[in-house]
Amino acid sequence: MPQAVDLFVIGGGVNGCGIARDAAGRGLRVRLAEMGDLAQATSSASTKLFHGGLRYLEYLEIKLVREALSEREVLIRAMPHISWPMRFVLPYSADMRFESDTPVSKMLSTVMPWMKGKRPSWMIRSGLFLYDHLGGQGLLPGTKRLDLRNAPEGAPLKDSFTHAFEYSDGWVQDARLVVLNARDAEAHGADIRVQTKVVEAHRDGGHWVIVTEGPNGREEHMARAVVNAGGPWVEQILKGTMGSASREHIRLVRGSHIVTRKLYDHDKCYFFQGADGRIIFAIPYEQDFTLIGTTEAAHEDSPLAAECTEAERDYLCDFASEYFKEEVTPDDVVWTYSGVRPLYEDGASSATAATREYVLSLDAPAGQPAALHVFGGKITTYRRLAEDALGKLRPHLPGMGGQWTKGARLPGGDFAPEEVGAKIAKLSQDYPFVDRKWAERMIRHYGTESWHILGDAKALGDLGRDFGGTLTEAELRWLVEKEWARKVEDVIWRRTKLGLRLDADQVNSVAAWLEEHAA
Ligand SMILES: Cc1cc2nc3c(=O)[nH]c(=O)nc-3n(C[C@H](O)[C@H](O)[C@H](O)COP(=O)(O)OP(=O)(O)OC[C@H]3O[C@@H](n4cnc5c(N)ncnc54)[C@H](O)[C@@H]3O)c2cc1C
Repeated sequence: MPQAVDLFVIGGGVNGCGIARDAAGRGLRVRLAEMGDLAQATSSASTKLFHGGLRYLEYLEIKLVREALSEREVLIRAMPHISWPMRFVLPYSADMRFESDTPVSKMLSTVMPWMKGKRPSWMIRSGLFLYDHLGGQGLLPGTKRLDLRNAPEGAPLKDSFTHAFEYSDGWVQDARLVVLNARDAEAHGADIRVQTKVVEAHRDGGHWVIVTEGPNGREEHMARAVVNAGGPWVEQILKGTMGSASREHIRLVRGSHIVTRKLYDHDKCYFFQGADGRIIFAIPYEQDFTLIGTTEAAHEDSPLAAECTEAERDYLCDFASEYFKEEVTPDDVVWTYSGVRPLYEDGASSATAATREYVLSLDAPAGQPAALHVFGGKITTYRRLAEDALGKLRPHLPGMGGQWTKGARLPGGDFAPEEVGAKIAKLSQDYPFVDRKWAERMIRHYGTESWHILGDAKALGDLGRDFGGTLTEAELRWLVEKEWARKVEDVIWRRTKLGLRLDADQVNSVAAWLEEHAA
């Protein structure tokens, strides 16, 4: 039987890995089991924004928005390689319609019934003023007004859009965020296990017995407490794997994205408000592409079966085409992805209205070991969620250290956000065969650890086999040895997004290499 631990974490998404990292840094002995790859579910399928959630102001979710807004800068400073500030352009048109069942809409239909779901420009400006000031400023510049008739941001848009507001939020490479939290957890002593499914967990006297099935076969583990961070599987784990009679529920809401060839040249995002009251983003993506999303639909199937349907793809193309001069068609789409939000069921009528706040449910009957179940949450609040989770577990795991993650950097992120350009230039200078685009990819994925990956190479050939798309054997080896990559999808869709660049033969040779070298 493996050594007993203090805390056993089920699920290697952002919440599980964030909690494992925080707990390990407090001196607890931690083990995490992920049934597939790290970030294989919701945490690699998000819109990838560190955001306060502008539209949640419509729901008067002020606490959620304030907390998330102030967290954006904390996070960007802790991981300036994989996250960065972004400017968002919100074209304004008097005909834009907003969702009708939000608290703000209901209030307005009473006091200004003639508005009929519309918002005057001053009201949007006031919302953005609130957004600028709720969560503090520093790294992220405030809102300004744009005249689209003269600004480059207006060039790709239809001429009918003459004005816009521009505001700030942050961007993060979500799947890399997860793996870097796992790495930091491991650096603090945690035992991270991938391809390891928790099939049963029960209390036995003063501890939990957890049964896993993985590369080592069937194993039993002992722990003083368990965290269920199963994301969309949280209810299944709670009631099935852990046998609880809890009445808590989650609702699964699918969100799909499309990736197209690059639709415009500047580096800002668009925030489009649709005629149906919904919003979508168009975001510069992976240097040569544009990311557009998301949809929102109830999801009944297995979370891993979530796929962007043709109808969702067409909806996103049509939505974007309302704004862009050049029509966006399914032929422009080079990739799609889809994920499932696990929303805590609070009785709200629409998918959008269901709460985005997380709920931490502690199950700790007197004299028995504790379990904590994580419902909902956002990428943006994962660090705060981990702090709250450990706060709840503190009475059950006495002796743990205090909060420490605020201001603590993730691996490779030991530089200031303003220095990222200099790091990219330095990498290219130190390795003259690495061009600027490649250097940018390396710094944006690995930060200062890029130098460890490239080592003392003097020429491309020193990095081993070249798989195409700037992926070399040296990088693959790093992904296997340091980042738990086991399968080809782990490499091309989660640790990197090189799936957008590699052809079928190149993907096959990566797969063959992994078969030979991955544990
Ligand atoms: C379309 C979409 C867009 C979003 N956009 C944003 C955004 O822009 N910004 C933002 O802040 N948030 C966003 N979110 C929310 C955010 O992505 C989620 O809140 C977050 O990723 C949830 O992480 P998690 O760790 O709880 O779940 P997951 O990432 O789903 O992780 C749960 C893990 O548990 C594992 N697991 C399940 N059962 C077992 C078992 N028995 N044994 C072992 N492992 C198991 C699964 O394999 C999975 O990897 C978005 C969500 C969606 C769906």
